Amino acid sequence: MTSTVLRTGILARLTLAVRPSYGPLVLVDRSAASLVHLASWCKFFSRSMSVQTGFTVPPPKSLQQPLSVPKRLLLGPGPSNISSRVQEAGGRQIIGHMHPEMFQIMDQIKAGIQYAFQTTNNLTLAISGSGHAAMEAALVNVLEPGEAVLIAMNGVWGERAADIGERIGAKVQKLVKTPGESFSLQDIEKALVQHKPVLFFITHGESSTGVVQNLDGIGSLCKSHNCLLLVDSVASLGGAPLFMDNQEIDILYSGSQKVLNCPPGTAPISFNERACQKIFNRKTKPTSLYLDMGWLSNLWGYDESPRKYHHTSPITCLFALREALAILAEQGLENYWKLHQENAEYLHKGLEDLGLKLFVKDKSMRLPTVTTIAVPEGYEWKDITNFIMKNYQIEITGGLGPTIGMVLRIGLMGINCTKANADLVIRALKDALEHCKKSKH
Ligand SMILES: *Cc1c(COP(=O)(O)O)cnc(C)c1O
Repeated sequence: MTSTVLRTGILARLTLAVRPSYGPLVLVDRSAASLVHLASWCKFFSRSMSVQTGFTVPPPKSLQQPLSVPKRLLLGPGPSNISSRVQEAGGRQIIGHMHPEMFQIMDQIKAGIQYAFQTTNNLTLAISGSGHAAMEAALVNVLEPGEAVLIAMNGVWGERAADIGERIGAKVQKLVKTPGESFSLQDIEKALVQHKPVLFFITHGESSTGVVQNLDGIGSLCKSHNCLLLVDSVASLGGAPLFMDNQEIDILYSGSQKVLNCPPGTAPISFNERACQKIFNRKTKPTSLYLDMGWLSNLWGYDESPRKYHHTSPITCLFALREALAILAEQGLENYWKLHQENAEYLHKGLEDLGLKLFVKDKSMRLPTVTTIAVPEGYEWKDITNFIMKNYQIEITGGLGPTIGMVLRIGLMGINCTKANADLVIRALKDALEHCKKSKH
């Protein structure tokens, strides 16, 4: 009782304090004197509230410091640095997620993804989330519990896809290869015949191993076995040739923070007609409402019906993605692919000249965007990455999943893909090899 009375009293006084005249709240007098007055009331208000309601957590001291972000050159497998143009776009004031101008920007993003994917698919959009969200969106919309899915597993991304498939309750079949290897059409056909999956998952740019998968022929092979083809191109899009329509890929997704030099948080995805047939004729609802393509297709203007609110899209991330896709379109895919191939080869030569061994032996199987080096004998990989971070403010990373402890990974992606950066990382590695003591025998 007392607390209600007291609180009402405070609120009344506070309202008076912010309403020196009788205008609406927005017309608060902004003179310094009234602000001081208001601040003292707020202090009193919060003190009374803490007594009354028992705050146990004070405002954190760390948040009284200004935001501090060190300058780093991100030459790991992602994220990569973002361009100033993308940075500016992402720093704009927002508009509403259901404003017609926002839908126009989403349409531009759709066109940008269609170009980047080389597809005319109508169901093309950006998922609100990182690459994993797109992976989950693909699997959760296509697969129904009990259906068979075949996962090509030669690194961490197949492991993740298999994990998601199991959570959905699908019958997960694995086609396994040693990390560093890729799949032949014969491997795939044999597994398709054996498991009769409704969906086959394969990674184009295996960034945990540094392998690029040749996709030619897989699409038509899957089609002839009545199976949909799902491809992960998070690490390869923009950096290695990829033709969704011509390669008959049914579902393709990517990410924003690798070659596109965009902040993480949006993930391009596209479904062709065959995939739409499957996802829009399900017997069960997808277990994720957030990633339900029934909703998302409408939000991205797939059908003629008015767009309905589903979730608030990451508006500034979409601004940034729009700009990143515009830059890719200006550069031209063919030029970007060539740039990544040339600079990767330049980096590979420099690394070999240092006496380092590339993890992927077959040159044609090396992913142009992410290079893997066998951890040099006798060294602790973490000593090397730490040394380079400390002395050069450059990020390179160790392995991931099955390649932990086996490799070092260097990414040259988008604006980071320059000969100067290749030279810099080679110099840093040379320095690290000289200074990091050999700690292993
Ligand atoms: C980075 C990456 C992902 C995961 O993307 P997130 O944005 O970290 O969720 C998936 N697949 C591949 C091949 C990747 O390189």
